Amino acid sequence: MTTNTKFNLTSRILIAMALGILVGSFFQWILGGAAEKEVSLAGFSIGIKALFVDGIFHVGGQIFVASLKMLVVPLVLVSLVCGTSSLKDISTLGRIGSKSMGLYILTTAIAITIAIFFALLFSPGVGVNMPLAQSYQVADTPSVAQVFINMFPSNPVEAMAKGEMLQIIIFAVLFGIAIALSGEAGQRVRQIFEDLNTVVMHLVNIVMHLSPYGVFFLMAKLFTTLELNDMGNLGIYFLVVLFVLLFHGLLVYGTLVKLVGGLNPLMFFRKMKETALFAFSTSSSNATIASNMATTTGKLGVDNKVASFTIPLGATINMDGTAIMQGVATVFIAQVYNIDLTAADYLLVVLTATLASIGTAGVPGVGLVMLAMVLQQVGLPVEGIALIIGVDRLLDMTRTAVNITGDAMVSCLVGKSEKCLDLAVFNDPDAGKNDKL
Ligand code: ASP
Repeated sequence: MTTNTKFNLTSRILIAMALGILVGSFFQWILGGAAEKEVSLAGFSIGIKALFVDGIFHVGGQIFVASLKMLVVPLVLVSLVCGTSSLKDISTLGRIGSKSMGLYILTTAIAITIAIFFALLFSPGVGVNMPLAQSYQVADTPSVAQVFINMFPSNPVEAMAKGEMLQIIIFAVLFGIAIALSGEAGQRVRQIFEDLNTVVMHLVNIVMHLSPYGVFFLMAKLFTTLELNDMGNLGIYFLVVLFVLLFHGLLVYGTLVKLVGGLNPLMFFRKMKETALFAFSTSSSNATIASNMATTTGKLGVDNKVASFTIPLGATINMDGTAIMQGVATVFIAQVYNIDLTAADYLLVVLTATLASIGTAGVPGVGLVMLAMVLQQVGLPVEGIALIIGVDRLLDMTRTAVNITGDAMVSCLVGKSEKCLDLAVFNDPDAGKNDKL
């Protein structure tokens, strides 16, 4: 089945996004802040908000996000089992694991350090007058010990039912190793998983082709309801976070791709566009796993052995964009409350934010929960989070795009160093174009 269109998928997603923003802004304008506006049509009276915003846009957007999440568990399980069971030597797995963990932690620490540096330079919270008596409900945050215990599944079926990514990864890796050790029986099971992998990749393709509609609905809903009243006071905070996100996402990643991987950064970014748009419109690294795996393997040429491990792992533990928001937010909140932080406090912020990202899943808004942990560590008022919520939605979208670009970047670096990256595919501008179904 071939889709007959002159636009490729990335362009269609971009067009859908622009249309969604236009339509959403139009509805925001006609509703003009009113809770509802009725229109009469052939004797029927219809609420615009009920029909479009809470109706069509909401339902369409949620179905899209649900379909993306639907792909995650089967995709991660099947491709990771295929990836690990095909390894000739188990020590490779140890190397891939330690290289990716090391790079994830290192890049997150760099991200938050840069964020604190620029936040101190631009002082977004100095002179800001905001009502401080806001309230923010702090979610329960697990201890570090609990985070490690929670990585191990006591029931793999339950782990899959709940979408516990780290537990699924550990189970799939062990299962893959067991297949590799099981001789002929293992080979038969492996063949089944290889076939399943082909089927799951087609499933991914089907959802990807419907994605422009989903992106349109998500954007239309968001821009109908988006309130930017707080922008005045939060303008500098917003711009500093955005600036550091771009700085890290383009400059730091570009440099690492070039210097550590010896790869062409422009080619890397060009191929990441589609997946970054997915992350931007869904605000969820987890929901972007399927697209990111398709991009890293199909377009960037990273072998499934590496990508099936690094991408889902990165979606859960690698959140450079989120760390950047936390760095700037900590400085902002300290400045608004007139609290001086010492160099040791900042070090603690770097450590806590880096560790916090390991135990939290890549879903919308989780960065604020992690920020609560960071603020508590350095004795800043957690209510401060209420100050920045007003502009967090747009920042969440942008930082998620940075988070998943970081996952793909590490995947390329690890792939290259393990001789698991096909340079011909990486350098071919048309490789893996998702135009056929
Ligand atoms: N939405 C982000 C992600 O899924 C996490 C966050 O920063 O809130 O990667």
